[in-house]
Amino acid sequence: MADLQIDQVTKTFGDTQVLKGISLDIADGEFVSLVGPSGCGKSTLLRIIAGLEGQTSGAIRIHGQDVSGIRAADRNLSMVFQSYALYPHLTVAENISVPLKMRQLSAVQRLPVIGPFLPGSRDKNVEIAAAVKHAAQTLEIDKLLDRKPGQLSGGQRQRVALGRALVREPAAFLLDEPLSNLDAKLRVQTRAEIAELHRRIGATFVYVTHDQVEAMTMSSRIAVMMDGEILQCDAPDEVYHNPLDIRVAEFIGSPK
Ligand code: ADP
Ligand code: MG
Repeated sequence: MADLQIDQVTKTFGDTQVLKGISLDIADGEFVSLVGPSGCGKSTLLRIIAGLEGQTSGAIRIHGQDVSGIRAADRNLSMVFQSYALYPHLTVAENISVPLKMRQLSAVQRLPVIGPFLPGSRDKNVEIAAAVKHAAQTLEIDKLLDRKPGQLSGGQRQRVALGRALVREPAAFLLDEPLSNLDAKLRVQTRAEIAELHRRIGATFVYVTHDQVEAMTMSSRIAVMMDGEILQCDAPDEVYHNPLDIRVAEFIGSPK
């Protein structure tokens, strides 16, 4: 069974159907890229998987469970945004700890009575600090923990955004064009690092990009999207050599 199953998902904004029945099964540990031209619906699909947006019809299942009623914070998925979405007034360490603090708050809200031991619990804070340090070490930003985002380079900010995703130890990472704000050289370097991170931690990666070359080098499979549909989802070689549709051939073959 697929660990992340997208089943006939549609999305309509006003009069416009932007997703026209998307189905895709993603196995545990896969690196799947969603590629396609700007406006084809990639971010909308990713936001629906994350729970940041509701679908109009269809279902998202994680390990067989329909997650429609489950809010984003409780889906065990981490989203990385193009803009990084870091808090400018918080340090790197505080930025990375945000998801764990939110999880703690969410646990408190579910308690029938708020005990005196939460959310300021000393043990919990020590645990969070250790998790932040571990994530920072994995991404080699452990020397930057006391800085604010304004004191970091673009590449370093991008790592902090990855660190904030990593610290939750999610079942899947959802990355929406995470490299598009970097210059060409840093983009190539960082995509190798993301591929390496995927190999090391073995989690599922769903990676959105409009850059087909980026997708070709990183992915176990590529889903080519156009106008709210997936035209083909196959291994990079297969998509390149055996495109099922002229639009796939044109998109994959177009110069970057
Ligand atoms: P992509 O990420 O592939 O560039 P998006 O998923 O962002 O595409 O957008 C797909 C289409 O849906 C676009 O035409 C966009 O204008 C439209 N769209 C996205 N979000 C909204 C929204 N909140 N309200 C109305 N239209 C939207
Ligand atoms: Mg987008």
